[in-house]
Amino acid sequence: MNFQNPVFIPGPTNIPEVLRKAVDMPTLDHRSSLFGDILQPALKGVAKVLQSETAEVFIFPSTGTGGWETALTNTLSPGDRVLAARNGMFSHRWIDMCQRHGLEVEVVETPWGEGIHADRFEEILTADKSHEIRAVLATHNETATGVWSDIAAIRRALDAAGHPALLYVDGVSSIGSMDFRMDEWGVDIAVTGSQKGFMLPAGLAIVGFSPRAMQALKTATLPRTFFDVRDMAKGYANNAYPYTPSVGLLNGLKLSTEMLLAEGLENVFARHHRIAEGVRAAAGAWGLDLCAANPRVYSDTVSAIKTPPGFNATDIVIHAADRYDVAYGVGLGEVAGKVFRIGHLGSLTDVMALAGIATAEMVMLDLGLKIEAGSGVAAAQAVYRDSETMVTGAAA
Ligand SMILES: *Cc1c(COP(=O)(O)O)cnc(C)c1O
Repeated sequence: MNFQNPVFIPGPTNIPEVLRKAVDMPTLDHRSSLFGDILQPALKGVAKVLQSETAEVFIFPSTGTGGWETALTNTLSPGDRVLAARNGMFSHRWIDMCQRHGLEVEVVETPWGEGIHADRFEEILTADKSHEIRAVLATHNETATGVWSDIAAIRRALDAAGHPALLYVDGVSSIGSMDFRMDEWGVDIAVTGSQKGFMLPAGLAIVGFSPRAMQALKTATLPRTFFDVRDMAKGYANNAYPYTPSVGLLNGLKLSTEMLLAEGLENVFARHHRIAEGVRAAAGAWGLDLCAANPRVYSDTVSAIKTPPGFNATDIVIHAADRYDVAYGVGLGEVAGKVFRIGHLGSLTDVMALAGIATAEMVMLDLGLKIEAGSGVAAAQAVYRDSETMVTGAAA
């Protein structure tokens, strides 16, 4: 095993050295004022990354999945109706979690590779005259298929239907990498984790609650204890947690948000777009299609690349790990064996992306795929040599 190479899985992402050092700290008393100096800047930094002035941020020792559960259990009651689209493995799992909590999910089945159809949501919400739907769930970036969905369009659908349902967004693989505007898009709960855009190890569920979502706490009756944001809010008022916090990870998060904000969110998003464009140019040069159905839904954080029929895409991931010590993502669920994924989010530069593209090329040649040696690399080089899209001050 070689730890020199960057990983190209769509999370956990590469951890910059400065963040690894920030996470690795001696024990401190989490009931002392020292802890507040870590907690409060981390909370404020997250709110800025969410582009929100009004959200209350809560951070649990957990992962993104715990963030989903935080959203549901704090604001909904058994039997409540929620609306969600299933267009990949992550939206599928969130729907599954809703069902296990006894929520009634109106599922809009959507082909894997397509984004959420906001117009379909609008029809359903308009037809729901008695406003039984309490929440609309949207996965901003389907990490399984490399598909982006337009959250602003979903907000417009809610508004056009005059529907009061809350809007919950899974931004686990978009927040901190792709544009995410909690306030402007009227997002009521934003969910993410520490190990993707924030470039940290896994271990934190990070959520933002809008004032309307905070109101919903009063009526929600789903059982919640560990993820109860009321306990968390009480703790935060005293710079404390209702239990033992992950102090090192929070210290990392404080620094990570500082890094993202110092780079400038606009620049962070532009860097991700540029790197993604290089990966997409490479796939095109290899003659391979993306799982994403059209350019409008291309994800800037992960590309799921289809391999020819009869070829097991998972072999690429296995061979890359065995032969070159490089990690790519396997296909999940419906697209298992049909796609491999190149994750391109977090701490990444053009140069790192080129290494991932070049290695994928070697792997595919080794496995007998009919691609031209150097073609993907050359296509990406053309993108990365274009000084027009150059972004400065990229994160370490
Ligand atoms: C990674 C991911 C999750 C799950 O997060 P965990 O931290 O693994 O629990 C949820 N949704 C999306 C879109 C993801 O990419």
